[in-house]
Amino acid sequence: MQKSLLPTPEALTLDQIAQRFNTDERALAYLEEIIWPHGPVCPHCQNADPARIWKLKANAAKEIRLGLYECGACGKQFRVTVGTIFEDSKIPLRKWLVAWYLVCSSKKGSSLQLMRQLDLGSYHTALFMTHRIRHALRDPAFNGKLSGTVEVDETYVDGVVKGRGRHYVANKANIVSMVERGGRVRLQVMDKVTSKNLKAALNEHVETSARIVTDEHHGYRKAAAGFAAHETVNHGAKEYARGDVNTNTVEGFFSLFRRGVIGTFHSVSKKHLPLYLAEFDHRYNTRKQTDGERTVAGMKKARGKRLTLKPLREGA
Ligand SMILES: [Zn+2]
Repeated sequence: MQKSLLPTPEALTLDQIAQRFNTDERALAYLEEIIWPHGPVCPHCQNADPARIWKLKANAAKEIRLGLYECGACGKQFRVTVGTIFEDSKIPLRKWLVAWYLVCSSKKGSSLQLMRQLDLGSYHTALFMTHRIRHALRDPAFNGKLSGTVEVDETYVDGVVKGRGRHYVANKANIVSMVERGGRVRLQVMDKVTSKNLKAALNEHVETSARIVTDEHHGYRKAAAGFAAHETVNHGAKEYARGDVNTNTVEGFFSLFRRGVIGTFHSVSKKHLPLYLAEFDHRYNTRKQTDGERTVAGMKKARGKRLTLKPLREGA
């Protein structure tokens, strides 16, 4: 493996990304370093034996692209971008790296800002990039369930639909937040906050050994039945806390969330809300890290996230 291209992720700044990875060759080498920290891995058969993977020399005349490898185990060829959100993209990789940094670091990673800074030519292309990055940031449930004391609460956002008023009800979305005290968060969009939906969300994201703390919304009683403990705070009776039975963590999170999502994305449509939530989750879960670390941690999630966001065509 070649020498690391940067000292440490902590020290990574936007300026460094823009200057050091100003060619696609350098950007590709850096992406390889992030996605393959122990050397190339064949995405077709998972072969990682360095003696059985060969790097092919780029040759435009023979149509051998930069960063192409051949696997000795399955005989197939691959690049580091196979199976990632970068696959098949015509947008230069060096621009993708800057976009990652902007989305992961900034508190206002808007598509408009991205379009201007990267000279993308169209807002649509910028939106395509930010949505793909947000998709990659989503934590699959199997990344470790929440444990310890988990506070659960619900809020809603008014998504805006063109031509409809600000408070058009059909586009309103409920968001249930599960926050580990002193730890991570998982957000889930819910059409209706019912005990059945709450139960499914808790089962997916929280260990059964956890102690659940909620308000007195009736749906939680059944939903939290299978967990080690369930305690409730009665907000209606102005009882906000009894010792450590409180929902202060999740309420603090929601106030950050409201400022972050609603302040930044003036019109979040319900369809794309889960993508914004993924970005917000990632930022919250890496809140003690530097912008550089947060960006590198995000890029590591790019693997296995290939998708086509159908309504968003690149460059359209
Ligand atoms: Zn292979």
